[in-house]
Amino acid sequence: MLRVAVIGSGPSGVYTAQSLVEQQAVPDVEVYVLDRLPCPYGLVRYGVAPDHEKIKSLQNNLRTVLEHPRVHFLGNVEVGAPGLGLQELCEIFHAVVFCVGAATDRHLGIPGEDLPGSHSATSFVAWYSAHPDAAATDFALSARSAVVIGVGNVAVDVARILARGAAELAGTDMPQGALGALVDSGVEDIWMVGRRGPSQAKFTTKELRELGALPGAEVLVRPEELALDPGYRDPGGLPAVGRRNVQVLRDWAERSNDVVTAGPAASAASAASAGRTRRIHLRFFLRPVAMVGDAATGVRAVRFERTVPDEHGGVVGTGEHEDIEAQLVLRSVGYRGTPQPGLPFDDATGTVPHRAGRVLRDGAPCPGVYVAGWIKRGPTGVIGTNRPCAKETAASLLEDATALAERDIADDPVDALRATGQQPVPWAGWLGIEVAEAAWGRQLGRGTVKLPDWEGLLEAARSTG
Ligand code: NAP
Repeated sequence: MLRVAVIGSGPSGVYTAQSLVEQQAVPDVEVYVLDRLPCPYGLVRYGVAPDHEKIKSLQNNLRTVLEHPRVHFLGNVEVGAPGLGLQELCEIFHAVVFCVGAATDRHLGIPGEDLPGSHSATSFVAWYSAHPDAAATDFALSARSAVVIGVGNVAVDVARILARGAAELAGTDMPQGALGALVDSGVEDIWMVGRRGPSQAKFTTKELRELGALPGAEVLVRPEELALDPGYRDPGGLPAVGRRNVQVLRDWAERSNDVVTAGPAASAASAASAGRTRRIHLRFFLRPVAMVGDAATGVRAVRFERTVPDEHGGVVGTGEHEDIEAQLVLRSVGYRGTPQPGLPFDDATGTVPHRAGRVLRDGAPCPGVYVAGWIKRGPTGVIGTNRPCAKETAASLLEDATALAERDIADDPVDALRATGQQPVPWAGWLGIEVAEAAWGRQLGRGTVKLPDWEGLLEAARSTG
């Protein structure tokens, strides 16, 4: 018997568990998937936007793995809490695979970044996804103008959620508090701003196109900013995704040009008559240099420096500045991994050094310790990218299985975890949360509605767990 702990129940953790139990070379592998939260699925539950039901339905595939007879979900287990470090884990399990993702956000390092009203996009995502650590965050949704810094898929998600109306959001599983705040939001203008050009934007075309299909918002693009981009003149030389993005933006820019020709008043009137009361402005070649405002009134604007292409894929500043009004700023410049208890950490990349998933300390493998997912390769790629990544790590672990199985470990992992002060929520507890969320939704006249706070989640888990 080989007993493995997988830390984290997001896609990389679940795919690792799947790779370990769905193979014949090493029989009798038992996998315990531990999560700090009482709920499974990681970013599929707490990161995929609530209006992306199709991607969310991937939970059904992950669920099948977590219900495998040799896979055991244990929520509410905090690795790194006093009494549960790497050493204790290695006394309970033959091997430990860290699949903890990238738990924090990157910083801009500009003056005013922490003014009231300026938040990381990841905290906004956590809030509308009902992450229990984000329940108390207060976003300035009385804002008239919101700036989203960055042009990746997270930026598109938060811009889209800000632009959606009540009718579109009520059908999601968004928590009631966030739904109410978004429905009452005063945001009219949403600025999504990239420091480089459109052909270098990180969003994918499907996600970009979705902005243009929002019933209550119009997308505005400035032709002159697209024209600055070398890829705009020669889209043939771009990778496929860049080419498609540029084409979508070109079409929108032409439409925006018509708007400019008609005049702003006429265009606002025609948008309003079509029910499009919000505007999403896609801006490029603007590098954030400061947030303007003060601690008492909060952020009032973001100051950008105009940039131009440097002919090497980067940009250089021109010294020319532009302030964009914003009472709400969402910094969407990427996730970042955090150091894990007892593990080496590469501060430059925010990842754990590894070779094919085996954790390396000073270049040598740490026996029995592995990584998969974003903590292994950095916060890039789509959910499916985790499959081959997890497979590679599982293959390394299985190669080491004979030596690992010789180690003495605790008899009962759940008792041993309890002895460290943890109170694990088993799979049955999670099923209790699902039942409570369905009942809460019925009570509100909506579909399933997520519980947003620790107390509610743990109470629901205890009802069956
Ligand atoms: P991302 O794709 O890395 O995008 C980060 C953005 O921030 C880029 O536009 C980047 O510009 C910009 N940026 C970085 N540092 C900056 C700075 N100092 N000043 C201004 N801009 C800066 O990150 P993400 O949007 O957080 O997404 C993370 C991963 O999750 C991606 O793989 C994404 O595809 C995935 N995801 C997918 C979906 C989906 O499939 N629907 C949804 C959400 C997330 P530069 O390019 O110039 O560095």
